[in-house]
Amino acid sequence: MRRKIVAGNWKMNTTVQEGLELAEAVAKNAEKGMPEGVSIILAPPFTHIAGIKEVIPDFIGLAAQNCATEESGAFTGEVSAGMIASAGAQYVITGHSERRSIYRETDLELNKKVKTAIKNKLSPVFCCGENLDERQKGIHSEVVRKQIEKGLADITKDDFQKIIIAYEPVWAIGTGKTATPGQAQEMHHFIRNLLKELYGEKIADQTSILYGGSCKPSNAAEIFENIDVDGGLIGGASLKADDFMAIARSF
Ligand code: PEP
Repeated sequence: MRRKIVAGNWKMNTTVQEGLELAEAVAKNAEKGMPEGVSIILAPPFTHIAGIKEVIPDFIGLAAQNCATEESGAFTGEVSAGMIASAGAQYVITGHSERRSIYRETDLELNKKVKTAIKNKLSPVFCCGENLDERQKGIHSEVVRKQIEKGLADITKDDFQKIIIAYEPVWAIGTGKTATPGQAQEMHHFIRNLLKELYGEKIADQTSILYGGSCKPSNAAEIFENIDVDGGLIGGASLKADDFMAIARSF
């Protein structure tokens, strides 16, 4: 059985105090009971991780939104995977489209990030997805194939078990424009087949593939209903505890 996961990417939002309040509100709601087999993960800014760890129950996961390619040293401003793990997180988002486009992160750098994350016992939430131009040209599958082949190159089958994939069409992120359930299923199915080709049937069957892009309480159920969609990576709607939890309860 694949894990069903709903993860909230807070991006660069909330002060430490606001983040604690948001995490506590999510925890209070989640403690009422979660749908069977559904896990939730919060991805606050780096500065919030250690504090939030103190106020949430262990069944709620914690993620960083990025990590350095290197382990330690003279890299002013960077935060390593080891530091993130020591702050109490179990996951790290890698390759979010905002990192790829604004900070020009390359497939090679992302591959290093995935490897250092795994080395430090973090589960990477590896993001992939095409932009609007690529979708309109009809090359979305090729784009995602390349992102996965390069970003997840040379990972052992054992290590691959830690990886979660998030398919996030860039044209749907923060735009209010959601992929239709059919578009989401088509790409998730493509990704699962690709994992089968690259890593074998067992990995393909076991890997959770999340959908991201303007997911909200009103559309989550019809997206999650698809056989190859195992949950969501939620941006805007994760900043309101009730909305985030309504999405988590959409299964
Ligand atoms: C995201 O940033 O990963 C995301 C999916 O954002 P939004 O839900 O706001 O589109």
